[in-house]
Amino acid sequence: MADRTATYSFDTLLIHGGLEPGPAGATTVPIVQSSAFAQATAEELEDIFRGRKPGQVYTRVGNPTTESLEKRLALLDGGQTAIATASGMAAITTAVMTIVRSGDEILASSSLFGGTFSLFRDTLSSYGISTTFVDPTDLDAVRNGINDRTRLVFVETIGNPKMDVPDIPAIALIARAAGIPLLVDATVTTPCLARGCDLGADIVIHSTSKFINGTGSTIGGAIVDLGRFDWQSDKFPHFETFYKKYRAFAFTARARKLVHKDFGACAAPMNSFLLAEGVETLSLRMERHCANARKLAQFLQAHDRVRWVNYPGLEDSPYHQVAKKLYADKFGGVLTFGLADKAEAFRFINGLRLAKNLANIGDAKTLVIHPASTICSDFGPEEKSLMGVGEEMVRVSVGIEAINDIIEDFDFALNNL
Ligand SMILES: *Cc1c(COP(=O)(O)O)cnc(C)c1O
Repeated sequence: MADRTATYSFDTLLIHGGLEPGPAGATTVPIVQSSAFAQATAEELEDIFRGRKPGQVYTRVGNPTTESLEKRLALLDGGQTAIATASGMAAITTAVMTIVRSGDEILASSSLFGGTFSLFRDTLSSYGISTTFVDPTDLDAVRNGINDRTRLVFVETIGNPKMDVPDIPAIALIARAAGIPLLVDATVTTPCLARGCDLGADIVIHSTSKFINGTGSTIGGAIVDLGRFDWQSDKFPHFETFYKKYRAFAFTARARKLVHKDFGACAAPMNSFLLAEGVETLSLRMERHCANARKLAQFLQAHDRVRWVNYPGLEDSPYHQVAKKLYADKFGGVLTFGLADKAEAFRFINGLRLAKNLANIGDAKTLVIHPASTICSDFGPEEKSLMGVGEEMVRVSVGIEAINDIIEDFDFALNNL
């Protein structure tokens, strides 16, 4: 069905995309807080169950509030459908398990978000699904890492927290040539810096908990299906019946009818409402996040207590040129920097008065964390070094406060080391 909002510009889609007029003239999507949906007749319920008629049956499978959010998120990435999930990890698990089976392999970036790294290395390996990790900025390593059993490539637009920036369109060509889909976790960049359709991704993943929500109030995730991968392939015999019936929608159909429904990591209606509210201001917030991050990076680079700063927006970053090309001179709101050692990093964090010390990114508030002792503390030295995590490193998610207050806070803490 054609969506009347689909032709709007990106910034208008953020607010109006997929949004139907609400009851009594409401301008926000109604929170349909209902577990299940009654139909007048047994025939109608059968028709909805069998997909002969649109409608809702049970919130684990679908919900009107969540569906409204899904339509908007699909439009933002130029995708054909989206599935909202309980968290970003739920989105990754659901998308990957829709594609791979026991005995299959994944080719993944070695600088993934810790939760994804541990899902691939520890959890999925115990179900017979193994992962090869390669440096995603080394295209030969990506090409050579794919073998006959590889069924998908998984990368992040900007690695969290390594801040590396792979050339996604070039990786898309490699995946395409190998006949396997490219899954891109675009949490750090959001559709504001680049839409999934322009990056060449087949499936885009978002942890909507981060910038899309923007207020630190809600955990959520999304899987966007760009609808361009050809699932009719010897590599994907388990897609055959879905392909025959649903063609370009084969991935979404297999995810919705099997994995998402069976794993049950659905979005809660209240969370879908909060995410639909949050995403409206995404463009404005991302502009400020990016501008503030660039200014903070420059300030840190000039400070004599700071050993190094890693932000793709800095001209001496090895990732600057690729980021500039792919993300139109916006470099995101996350950066890392190094002090002398762990003790100094701890003293710095303890000396901050404005920035919060917690495990999140993408909040309006400035957030800091010492990754080595927290989100990456389960990993050994070798893995930490692959992920670009050192003991001396602090990660910052630069908020949208006035930049002078952020800089003053950092300056105060640095001068009191
Ligand atoms: C936070 C994050 C995730 C996981 O999302 P949750 O909503 O916390 O489950 C995945 N990928 C990246 C890049 C993230 O930053």
